[in-house]
Amino acid sequence: MRDVPGLIEEVQQVLRRVDPDGVLVACEIRDVHIGPSELARVADEVDRLLGRGGEPPSRLPTVLLVMDRTVIRRAGSAVKDELVAQLAQRFDLRTLVLDDGQAELHASDEVIDSATAAADGVDAIVSVGGGTISDIGKLSSVGVGGLPLVVVQTAASVDGFTDNVSVVLRHGVKRTVPSRWPDVVVADTTLIAEAPQAMNRAGFGEINSMFTAPADWRLANLLGFDESFHHGPIALLAEVGDQIEEWSRGLATGQRNSTERLVRALGMRGIATGVAGTTACLSGVEHLISHMLDISNAANGRPTGLHGAQVGVGSVVAAAAWELLFARMDAASTVPGPELTPPDPAAAEQLVRAQFGPLDPTGALAEECWPTTTTSSAPGRGIGWSYYGCFPDGNCTGKNCGHWCAHPRRSRSGCRPRGHRRDSATSTRQWNRLWPAGPCSTAA
Ligand SMILES: [Zn+2]
Repeated sequence: MRDVPGLIEEVQQVLRRVDPDGVLVACEIRDVHIGPSELARVADEVDRLLGRGGEPPSRLPTVLLVMDRTVIRRAGSAVKDELVAQLAQRFDLRTLVLDDGQAELHASDEVIDSATAAADGVDAIVSVGGGTISDIGKLSSVGVGGLPLVVVQTAASVDGFTDNVSVVLRHGVKRTVPSRWPDVVVADTTLIAEAPQAMNRAGFGEINSMFTAPADWRLANLLGFDESFHHGPIALLAEVGDQIEEWSRGLATGQRNSTERLVRALGMRGIATGVAGTTACLSGVEHLISHMLDISNAANGRPTGLHGAQVGVGSVVAAAAWELLFARMDAASTVPGPELTPPDPAAAEQLVRAQFGPLDPTGALAEECWPTTTTSSAPGRGIGWSYYGCFPDGNCTGKNCGHWCAHPRRSRSGCRPRGHRRDSATSTRQWNRLWPAGPCSTAA
């Protein structure tokens, strides 16, 4: 059996190496438990967080279990019933089943408020479900002063289980807001492998942004839009990007080893976002595409697609956009850098508002989106810079790249049309001029 260190142990090891001065946000997750039988440990984890060692309590601690009405099964039995039974044996258990009347629950202000109200007066919160439920659990914990929080992850569809932000629906637009790290994440791979395949495939789609978004982040930094760039989060991603083309095949048939790798990769992504202090390291142009699809579908009465699936598709577009840029760089023998003229804000605003106009004639959507489009690295997202395009030959001179540079080269063949390959040695040289210290160097 592979000797795999715990995810948090691995994170701390990497961060000690790439961020010795502690510039990045500290990861405050105590444990991420990934394995085939982890569901059984949820009550133990709550006990541990409450500082109880199994001694008879003078008062039973109160625990709130937050969930939606989706029925989830694991090896034939209903997971939520199992969890209720497990927790009720040891705690004064309250359950909250959230339902906003929609086919799919959204983390709207009303839903978050009702979860926060239910959390008032309890000692700990356990959330069981997908990304939305996890986000609501985090926000309700924050709403009552940061109560201990155990997140039970039931699918590998998104990477939000292990970060310190939440996605909320505000004025019809999904927004990422600060929330908190969970204390403990429990990812039972037997359970997750039984999740609808479309969900775990969406998780795989989500993963693909790590081959383009970090480059968007870097470019935004070079153009002066984003001061937050740091190599540390990218070094974390390098730890889970290896051999993806081998293990991902098993996702189609729900193989547990593949599911475990997916859960681990998504877990690392969430942590990378959290320590970066910005979603920009993993949310580039491909996420803008996904958000735009959400808005467009909602405005036209169509069902919303799975976030990760849309991101996966958007990642292919992002990679292609970067390669187009490289082709133009090759043709012009120029390198993007400080001499580049950033987009004119007025022209950019006009462009954004023009895109939202047909979707919402009131202008409210554009009003909600435009301010965030002008901050952080968003303008840099408009281009997308594929690591693959940068290192088609794996010729990275960075000190700590591991397999990071080589991986996108291999994965590219799966997402780009055959016959569209080209010799990008020139691009590699240009990238090295752009980033003399090496893209994977730990020198910030
Ligand atoms: Zn995402």
